[in-house]
Amino acid sequence: MGNLIRKIGQIKILRNKLEARGHISHNQDKCTYCSLCEKKCPVDAISVSTQDKNWNIDNSVCIRCKTCVLNCPTKALDLKPNM
Ligand code: SF4
Ligand code: SF4
Repeated sequence: MGNLIRKIGQIKILRNKLEARGHISHNQDKCTYCSLCEKKCPVDAISVSTQDKNWNIDNSVCIRCKTCVLNCPTKALDLKPNM
């Protein structure tokens, strides 16, 4: 039980460190809803609907790795500091 509580504590610390890196911002004026970011994200944090022109991110899943930022063909994504 002690081990489990310690592990949960470690995960919370890691999550806080990741979230301190900032958040992914999405510029809808630049986005073509090609869904490449959705395909490249290693943890499935992004969902894109090309048909509905809808882009979403689950910030509780995102690990701030910037893979989506680096792969977006129109530079519609950026890792921005938290306000
Ligand atoms: S890769 Fe860029 S242009 Fe394509 S859906 Fe993602 S944010 Fe939009
Ligand atoms: S920063 Fe990494 S984990 Fe977060 S949405 Fe982009 S590709 Fe996925």
